[in-house]
Amino acid sequence: MPTHQLLLDLEGGLLGSTITIVTPPLVGPIAVAAVEGADLRTIDVDGERIRVRTEQVALDGVAIGYVQAFHSLESRDDTASALAQMFLIAGGIGSAVALVAGYWLSGRTLAPIQRNMEAQERFVADASHELRTPIAVVQSSADVLLRHPDHSVEQEREVVEGIAEEALRMGALVRDLLELGTIDQAPLERRPVELGEIAAGAVQALETRTRERGMRMVLEPGTVWALGDRAALAQVARILLDNAIKYAGEGSRVEVSVAVLGRQARLRVADDGPGIPLEEQDRVFERFARVDKARARAQGSSGLGLSIARAIVERQGGRIVLASTPGEGAAFTVLLPSDTSASAD
Ligand code: ADP
Repeated sequence: MPTHQLLLDLEGGLLGSTITIVTPPLVGPIAVAAVEGADLRTIDVDGERIRVRTEQVALDGVAIGYVQAFHSLESRDDTASALAQMFLIAGGIGSAVALVAGYWLSGRTLAPIQRNMEAQERFVADASHELRTPIAVVQSSADVLLRHPDHSVEQEREVVEGIAEEALRMGALVRDLLELGTIDQAPLERRPVELGEIAAGAVQALETRTRERGMRMVLEPGTVWALGDRAALAQVARILLDNAIKYAGEGSRVEVSVAVLGRQARLRVADDGPGIPLEEQDRVFERFARVDKARARAQGSSGLGLSIARAIVERQGGRIVLASTPGEGAAFTVLLPSDTSASAD
């Protein structure tokens, strides 16, 4: 409806109009304007909202008629709805962007936590799997013994020895697991330590075993000061020497040496055993990694030694690296921050 005005007499009769096609005057507003002087309302004509203003017209204080003006709100409604639509779309896009950004950000924040949780879950799964085997062996051995209650221990010696072996293995595994689980919390010192002395201590502690296996352990004398925790580093040396004894094989030779390399102190354990296949070299530091499972099991291994060693070394700001040519031997090198003040003396 186009905007237009009607001029009305006191009875609401049409006197004139600003356009030719006219809606009939509205009686209700005139009645209100007669009392109030004016009326403003919005009406609905075939779905179109029309604002109707009716005013009394007076001459020298005497009412002589009314003016009734009609104005469509359609274009305003259109603008308002267009605006609302725009806000809705902009809001929608904004929310979508915020959602995506939030998801991305939370993903970034949560990713390390998620990775940690997954690693933890994998660790627990691996650990229980590792424990299940010896437990199954002990259970089935006990069943075998119970089936022949009249047999003497001598008659069932093998089975009983098997149980003892598995118990020993489980004990070692549980000890290593506990150790690995507490490395992150264990307080570690950062003091000057002499690696030559640590190496000598480890060589001495394993001397009998080395001799039993017909191996030669050669310690190259040296004095190298590093910064770290004495007991923890002694354990790293023991793990590396123990592995050399376990895996290098009878009659092989193990060389233990210390050195200073720039700002780093080095402890190296090298053997001339079978070494480690190239594709396994990265994996051996992972938990429960064993190259030759059957052989490692026979050695009473938990598959945790190198991961414990690496965790200890890395907590002290160092690195542990493996160099191995399969068939020729394996060399594990521990690099630690050197104690420059002590080395300079
Ligand atoms: P484990 O308790 O089995 O010794 P480690 O984490 O110490 O666990 O070692 C992981 C695996 O790496 C061993 O099972 C073995 O297969 C291999 N390995 C470690 N040291 C040597 C070595 N000096 N020579 C050959 N293989 C080795």
